Amino acid sequence: MNKGFWFAVIMVMPLFYDNGQAAALKMQKINDNDWPAEREAMVRTLGVYGIKDERVLSAMSKVRRHMFIPEVLRNRYDAYGDHPCPIGHGQTISQPYIVAYMTEKINAQPGEKVLEIGTGSGYQAAVLAECGAEVYSIELIPELAQHARTALANEEYKKVHVLTGDGYKGWPEHSPFDAIIVTCAPEDMPRALVDQLKEGGRMILPLGAGFQRLVILRKKGGKIIQEDDLPVRFVPMVKP
Ligand code: SAH
Repeated sequence: MNKGFWFAVIMVMPLFYDNGQAAALKMQKINDNDWPAEREAMVRTLGVYGIKDERVLSAMSKVRRHMFIPEVLRNRYDAYGDHPCPIGHGQTISQPYIVAYMTEKINAQPGEKVLEIGTGSGYQAAVLAECGAEVYSIELIPELAQHARTALANEEYKKVHVLTGDGYKGWPEHSPFDAIIVTCAPEDMPRALVDQLKEGGRMILPLGAGFQRLVILRKKGGKIIQEDDLPVRFVPMVKP
């Protein structure tokens, strides 16, 4: 057989190989994308539970929640059911209702700066970004921070910035914030976070050891107005 033939075969082989890979990737993307019915059902349930803000409902109908759950822990029922699900390292992604409730309460407007403590999977941050906010999110566990960065980049949420570090310190370089959302429960109000809230800003956090309540705090005229809300159950905010 002549040299030219083998040369042609060798040159063309990678094309077939690549095409195979590209096709497999495409299939994977289609499968990943293939859960709109589950997402719609989840959003309908949120409506039934009393979430009214159209911006929140629309954001949650767009964010592909299953893509924020590590692949080995991912399944249809868990990703879109109204319950928390494990994301590894003993942590969970909050149940959709709590994500919707807290997002509705802090009412982030397009262009506002929001600080999140406890990035976890990155899902809550994605929902805030989908509402138009610029999100700064802090996660203590480096592996989770890295997983969230990857998931957020894959899903093209460019307005979320993830810092590996201790949320008790906040993120002074980017303060003050229009809103702060804490998704792990400190025993006492973290002072640095209150200090990093803008005048007119609002913060929502689960507060307490054992028994926890959501607390909503507003800074108005230099004063702090604090209001107790729902009883909840979040993982503790760890003091490193
Ligand atoms: N918002 C997340 C869920 C967070 S679970 C989501 O949408 O998936 C709570 C997270 O808070 C965990 O990932 C935990 O590691 C993190 N955490 C606990 N203590 C912390 C601290 N001091 N600073 C930053 N993150 C903390």
